[in-house]
Amino acid sequence: MRLSLFILTLSFCALPAISHAADHSCIPPLTYRLAFVDQRFAVSAESVTQALKDASGAWSAAGTPVTQGNSTDAIAISLLYDERHPARQALRTIEGVISTNSATYEFRRSALDARTAAHKANSALVATASAMLETIVTFHNMAVDSWNARGGATPEKAAELNATSALLQGVTETLNRISDTLNREAASINMAVADTNQLARTLNQAVTTYNTIGAEQGTGFIEGTYRRMGIDKKIEVYAFADSKDLTRILAHEFGHALGLEHVASPTALMYEKNSATDYFPTTDDLSALTALCVTS
Ligand SMILES: [Zn+2]
Repeated sequence: MRLSLFILTLSFCALPAISHAADHSCIPPLTYRLAFVDQRFAVSAESVTQALKDASGAWSAAGTPVTQGNSTDAIAISLLYDERHPARQALRTIEGVISTNSATYEFRRSALDARTAAHKANSALVATASAMLETIVTFHNMAVDSWNARGGATPEKAAELNATSALLQGVTETLNRISDTLNREAASINMAVADTNQLARTLNQAVTTYNTIGAEQGTGFIEGTYRRMGIDKKIEVYAFADSKDLTRILAHEFGHALGLEHVASPTALMYEKNSATDYFPTTDDLSALTALCVTS
């Protein structure tokens, strides 16, 4: 028994190395068997088997063998379907919607910020140029009025004044065209702002829905349990987001089966909530395991 388990431990040597010098040999090796998978989970037997292999392998790599077997004391693994799984799946879908929309929103916001800043700078330039032009036009008109009051300009002066009038007219038209362009840009920015605000509302609705479903699940949302009654040992899983999540939940419940309680670190596999990102025991989990050997 001990020898075969040793061989199985070696077969998991491809897993990432977990550095720990502690001796966990005080913890008896565990075996598990897949007892039941509700078809409504729509997962293949292979993916559940793989999740079990990965979850048990993570502990085996840490020196606490957990292996598949059919002994009478093997932990019976069941995936039991109820309303929690579709709720978890809905949360996962909304998480995706929120994540995608948040990225789009941020992208559009920064693009709009840049466009608005450019528009503001260009508008300020046009306003300065318009004010200067207005002053020049005022002086020019005063000169024309002055010549007219004197009974008209000399032909040379009249030609010069008319040339200046034409030049000023041209500059005015150019500035008006630039103003029109800036006004169209302002209208376009306003439409983009309205679109982006609509996206923000959609995003907020998604967050509200997410929070509502999350609140309905309550703080005691339990995705899986480990129970032991006499010789009978059971792991039941009720909800998971994806196969990696399933693996993590199984690894967490295997941790309980090994004798571990919850640990305080949110990144630990044995944290009370499913907030770890992987399914390998962390140093906090392994310290708890070592403590188990010291106290037992
Ligand atoms: Zn737990």
